[in-house]
Amino acid sequence: MFYIHCPYCDEYRDEEEFAPKGQAHIARPEDPESCTDEQWGAYLFFRDNPRGIHHELWVHAIGCRKFFNITRNSASYEILETYRMGEQPRFSAEHPEGKSAETVAAEKVAAEAGMVAGQEGVKA
Ligand SMILES: [Zn+2]
Repeated sequence: MFYIHCPYCDEYRDEEEFAPKGQAHIARPEDPESCTDEQWGAYLFFRDNPRGIHHELWVHAIGCRKFFNITRNSASYEILETYRMGEQPRFSAEHPEGKSAETVAAEKVAAEAGMVAGQEGVKA
């Protein structure tokens, strides 16, 4: 038995309260009607299965019932972090030791700047 940290309850709870729901960060195509059958099939059915660090979607099924993401090492089963929907992971295959606080802050500023630029584009 092991414990998983729910980022919404902010507690470590028994693994049996949780259920895995597959690969995280699968973006639905913006315009499904314009997808080819091959593109739509890839979105629906094809998932990465890496050896090492990857991101998974989980649900706190017998708890707050919210979905969240886990960064897990598929070789060691180590859970590196859990994070809320919409948040970005600190650990990844590219950053196995975790991004520094400076990198995370810089990415947040860049993302917010992009959002502002997008909003200005809509108004124009
Ligand atoms: Zn929870």
